[in-house]
Amino acid sequence: MNGSPTITRIFLGATSAYVIKGPVPILIDSGMVGQQAMLRFGLRRAGIELADLALIVVTHAHSDHTGCLAWLRTSTDAAIACSRETMDDLTKGASACMKPRTITGRLVLPLLSRVAKYPAVEGDVAVDDVMTLAPYGIDGVLLPTPGHTRGCLSVVLGGDAIVGDLVSGKLGRRNVPSIPMLLEDRTAWAESVRAVLARGVQRFHPAHGGPFDAERVADLLEGAR
Ligand SMILES: [Zn+2]
Repeated sequence: MNGSPTITRIFLGATSAYVIKGPVPILIDSGMVGQQAMLRFGLRRAGIELADLALIVVTHAHSDHTGCLAWLRTSTDAAIACSRETMDDLTKGASACMKPRTITGRLVLPLLSRVAKYPAVEGDVAVDDVMTLAPYGIDGVLLPTPGHTRGCLSVVLGGDAIVGDLVSGKLGRRNVPSIPMLLEDRTAWAESVRAVLARGVQRFHPAHGGPFDAERVADLLEGAR
């Protein structure tokens, strides 16, 4: 077992994917519709060819995370792992809930709704509970972290967590963590942040902005009460 896999961020404009380089590479999220070339380029820069990918984890079914999944399905042999809620959305190319928490969220919702669809794809592994990554030679887990959407997942590897949109960079201050502007369930969100912190995570790696130190995220949680 490789206890310290490396985490590489793939910047894709307004969003990000991540790749975990362990005994076999794992991709987290897939960017927006049409970002195939950027994604392939980012993987190559990380020293990974599409054919090497063993697993693709989808943090949740928003189109800036699911856009290239159908293409990856035809370009790789990797299994797709996600929550059951996400899996249902993937089969329809449908977006998970987009419930604005802020005025900005309300303002951008029409725009987001216009680009909410993505090519449908079948998932392979439904994650209902904590799932170990040991079969992939990685000392880590997939952890359900609902809140931003019901079906959100995070990936926890020792002191690092790749959290999708569990926390996001503040508008204009991308290195300051904030509660995501779309939030389906605030109570579930707080419990999820607590659950990640309880695993001893030191750094949160989000899709937008960051990374964030755990203390900053704990402060955010405190301020959200
Ligand atoms: Zn999202």
